[in-house]
Amino acid sequence: MPEIVKLPQNMKFDSVEEERLHRKQRLAAGFRLFSKFGFDEGVAGHITARDPERLDHFWVNPFGMHFGHIRVSDLILVNHEGTVVEGEMPVNGAAFAIHSQVHAARPDVVAAGHAHSIYGKSWSALGRTLDPITQDVCAFYEDHAVFDDYTGVVLDIEEGKRIAHALGENKAVILRNHGLLTVGRSVDEAVWWFITMERSCQAQLLASSAGEPVLIDAEMARLTRNQVGSHLAGWFSFQPLFDRIVREQPDLLD
Ligand SMILES: [Zn+2]
Repeated sequence: MPEIVKLPQNMKFDSVEEERLHRKQRLAAGFRLFSKFGFDEGVAGHITARDPERLDHFWVNPFGMHFGHIRVSDLILVNHEGTVVEGEMPVNGAAFAIHSQVHAARPDVVAAGHAHSIYGKSWSALGRTLDPITQDVCAFYEDHAVFDDYTGVVLDIEEGKRIAHALGENKAVILRNHGLLTVGRSVDEAVWWFITMERSCQAQLLASSAGEPVLIDAEMARLTRNQVGSHLAGWFSFQPLFDRIVREQPDLLD
């Protein structure tokens, strides 16, 4: 890969403040992209970024603010008890119940994204994993799971624990009758997996409504997963989207 590409593992921060700002900028951009892709549904949905210093705290969108309006300065910091410790606005109870347990169960996870996007929730109603029918969906081959239960809006951390358990070591989990949840070692990665998983749900719904999709065989699906589904590939795929949204909506960095 050419040297000009700034790989995440090479990214060095001079201070924890600098790393925190970097994460918050990616997070605000992630919300603007969720809005641009139409993933908003009223006040539902959340993306979280673990604080680089206080590892049991995470940054998240303020409850009730449109994804398309979120700026870096609007993000709120929530502690392990669900208390907002930075910012004036409240946290969505479901964001805390789900994401606090995912971050606790997966120390490798820096960010997690969830929204009630139309194709993700439509696919989730089928209660099963995606098939390897395109190159792109192979990113999730043997790397996503189904939370095969639905018990109303998730406000109990015990339910969040069960979701984290269903996620396991995967990069994504389909919450039955609800929607998608993706995770990553960077905000970039978690947001990209959400975008491409949503589109993969759309692709399978389209293909299977038109006929019987041909499946990629297991060996090729695994090979392709290792190519398009790596942490680096997820991070890298987000970079042009970040550049585009910052150019279009520079106020997100405020
Ligand atoms: Zn939800």
